[in-house]
Amino acid sequence: MDEFGLINTYFARAPIGSDVLQGIGDDCAVVNPPEGRQLVMSIDTMVDGMHFPYGTAPERIGVRVMCAALSDLAAMGARPHWFTLALTLPEADPDWVAAFADGVFSIANRYECSLIGGDTTRGPLCITVQVHGSVEPGKALRRAGARPDDIVYVTGNLGDGAAALKVIEKKMTVAPGSFSYLLKRFYAPTPRIIEGEMLVGTASAAIDVSDGLYADLAKICEASGVGAMIDVARLPISEHWSSYTNEAQAQEWALTGGDDYQLCFTVPREQVGKLENWIREGRIVATAIGKITNKHELLLVKNGKPFELERKGYDHFG
Ligand code: ADP
Ligand code: MG
Repeated sequence: MDEFGLINTYFARAPIGSDVLQGIGDDCAVVNPPEGRQLVMSIDTMVDGMHFPYGTAPERIGVRVMCAALSDLAAMGARPHWFTLALTLPEADPDWVAAFADGVFSIANRYECSLIGGDTTRGPLCITVQVHGSVEPGKALRRAGARPDDIVYVTGNLGDGAAALKVIEKKMTVAPGSFSYLLKRFYAPTPRIIEGEMLVGTASAAIDVSDGLYADLAKICEASGVGAMIDVARLPISEHWSSYTNEAQAQEWALTGGDDYQLCFTVPREQVGKLENWIREGRIVATAIGKITNKHELLLVKNGKPFELERKGYDHFG
């Protein structure tokens, strides 16, 4: 099957909604921006053997690349609308592409995000997804909004991505139920779109945790010109894997493991009551883990003592 056959068969699906005037099939896509909103966009690339293990099932790759790309929109508090897809494939294997497309659309449809174009080339397996979303004017959640005394929160659990990788690489064995929990967290990490949109107008800053909480919170601090103090004992860690390692190791993974795709966000004191109500009502799953300070450093404390890290987070060129 040639390039156009592949695209037409597996990717040219009817867009969701009526805002796509020209989708796949011309030199560019044409869309109507949502009235009165600002556009927000981000691009993510995943390389075979680097961002997912060699031989990963194509459906899983499709799911994972979409979840990771949408996670960036979540971190800005944006609502997804459209995406473009650049595919570099070693061969035009219709079974592979069909399964990959199923993975991609399972997530795209859930978040009402329409595929409006892309590019297909031959080469080592590599996938790039550009997502486009929107926010109310001036309301995007940025990294540069944290102020001293804000409370630092994180959604869900931390360290699942790191623990999942250990399990996938057969360096750790867990019970079958926990195994499937971890596989899901690695291959289908929920993009926190709902939480991101909820936090618009409440959070002062946000980031999605892709390089590890320590490294990503440091980016909020850097951009905001502040520091933070994190209580390591408060880090939300899943019992699906914590019992298979010691406490300090689990906390280290929670701080430095990548691929969690949770949101780390800061909340000004006057908004904390509202957020705590949401948590109590089960509208958002989030944990307070520390606070923003005016010292330009990221302090980790555990039971009143400094907590030392062996490794500070994922650095793509480190
Ligand atoms: P051009 O040469 O003008 O860049 P192409 O011939 O590469 O266009 O692509 C033809 C159409 O198919 C375009 O609308 C493009 O957006 C779309 N397309 C190509 N590859 C993909 C893909 N992997 N997923 C979705 N749409 C794609
Ligand atoms: Mg063209």
